[in-house]
Amino acid sequence: MAPTEDAAAATPPPPPHFVIVPFVAQGHTIPMVDLARLLGSRGARVSLVTTPMNAARLRGVAGHATRAKLALDIVELPFPTDVAGLPPGIEHVDQVTNHNHCVLLFAALRRLAEPLEAYLRSLPPPRRPSCLVSDWCNGWTAAVSARLGIPRLFFQGPPCFYSLCDINAVDHGLHEQTAAARDDTEKFVVPGMPVRVEVTRATAPGFLNSPGWESQWAESMDAMRTSDGAVVNTFFDLEAQFLACYEAVLGKPVWALGPFCLANRGDAEATASRGNAPDVARQSAVTAWLDAMDTDDSVVFVSFGSLVRKLPNQLFEVGHGLEDSGVPFVWVVKESEAAAPEVAEWLAALEVRVAGRGLVVRGWAPQLAVLSHCAVGGFVTHCGWNSLLEAIAHGVPVATWPHFADQFLNERLVVDVLGVGVPVGVAEAPVMMLGDESAPVVGREDVARAVAALMGDGEEAGERRRKAKEYGEKAHRAMEKGGSSYESLTQLIESFRQSGGEKKTEDGTVHAWSPLKEQKK
Ligand code: UDP
Repeated sequence: MAPTEDAAAATPPPPPHFVIVPFVAQGHTIPMVDLARLLGSRGARVSLVTTPMNAARLRGVAGHATRAKLALDIVELPFPTDVAGLPPGIEHVDQVTNHNHCVLLFAALRRLAEPLEAYLRSLPPPRRPSCLVSDWCNGWTAAVSARLGIPRLFFQGPPCFYSLCDINAVDHGLHEQTAAARDDTEKFVVPGMPVRVEVTRATAPGFLNSPGWESQWAESMDAMRTSDGAVVNTFFDLEAQFLACYEAVLGKPVWALGPFCLANRGDAEATASRGNAPDVARQSAVTAWLDAMDTDDSVVFVSFGSLVRKLPNQLFEVGHGLEDSGVPFVWVVKESEAAAPEVAEWLAALEVRVAGRGLVVRGWAPQLAVLSHCAVGGFVTHCGWNSLLEAIAHGVPVATWPHFADQFLNERLVVDVLGVGVPVGVAEAPVMMLGDESAPVVGREDVARAVAALMGDGEEAGERRRKAKEYGEKAHRAMEKGGSSYESLTQLIESFRQSGGEKKTEDGTVHAWSPLKEQKK
């Protein structure tokens, strides 16, 4: 071997570079930021690509990464300013106030393809991308990675259980069946599932699979089928059978690397910077309130994620139900929900009545810090997958109150399959996330009953608690060295270190940017 070849052979390949493109909603960005932290903590280089307003929200993440010496950059692409009808200042789903703006926001995001390609082309050899990890909703990234020959994994927010239902529904004609449903109560069995799963027309799987979204849906489905695999925020011991079936149906590797939230374990700054500007003071105030509760598992946490907005009549029922339950609680009310004067006044009066036993958090709550606190013994949730998995990872059973998208099927997973949930018992009709006048109101009696069932000391409640603790322990083991998620992440990183991200481009030429190729020159 010539001396130069010798030297090249002795040089270890540089760490793989993962370029992550999250979708601009908290339930998508938060887990992908956690994934970025995980990859960075294991020696990979990571770039999180987003738009300026969203980058501003990630300032805490950037600061934390610098202090933790992670090779993690936030890359800003200019947000398109010329999308007709989209008011300036909307770069995130939680800023959207009507359905049409949501469609236009998706259209604006698709225009990021060009700046993303320019950014990827501009990267010098040691930082050339090994792999693009893109949210399922960002189907537009598929064409970019195909043009450049960069391997691409898609990140699907929901669990394998939901994604398997989703793909089976398409492959086996479930949507044609539900379209011909007699009425909203007619049940259909999701085909191809290893367990029996029943849905109605309204609760059938199919994110973005609705009128007005045809092109986005087709693009995302196509991007899924042409990807090199999937990354899912779940773990083997939680979803082994669904993971295996999903991988088989997809015909691609599915990397179960979660629970991602455990990437923040014991790091107050990291948990405080999840989803918003870091607010360590607020986090400390809430945990101090919980510290004062002297019995473990005695407090119920009530929160409906980042998007659901409840109208005043529904908010009042939740508040009365919590008050009537007699159980200590932490209840998150969004700023937009608390803004109306009659709501603000009502909340203030409630706080006086439940002083010492109930805490109302207005605005963004430090959810992970709450769920990981030993005083918290139950969670009333809208069944967003991040919220459910955060509860499971911390051994907390749930009362389920799904609203839309994957949430109804996530409820089936935690109630019927895992046995860690009790339903609040909402009608199976999706409630629009933006506050829906026509939505059936869940009464205070139902709220109080669900809280009592969740927090009670009967046999069923005890069994749910036992199972939740067991899954919590398994979740922690999965993320430790030797655990399933830890070892899968090692394999993922190593496979890209060794391949150097080599892949054929659309015209059949081999990806010219392979770090391995660069070194061998
Ligand atoms: N979250 C939070 N504080 C809040 C509301 C939400 O930290 O006040 C976080 C929560 O921990 C989770 C995410 O936001 O990580 C919400 O995602 P999920 O999938 O549960 O629901 P979505 O918001 O997408 O409906």
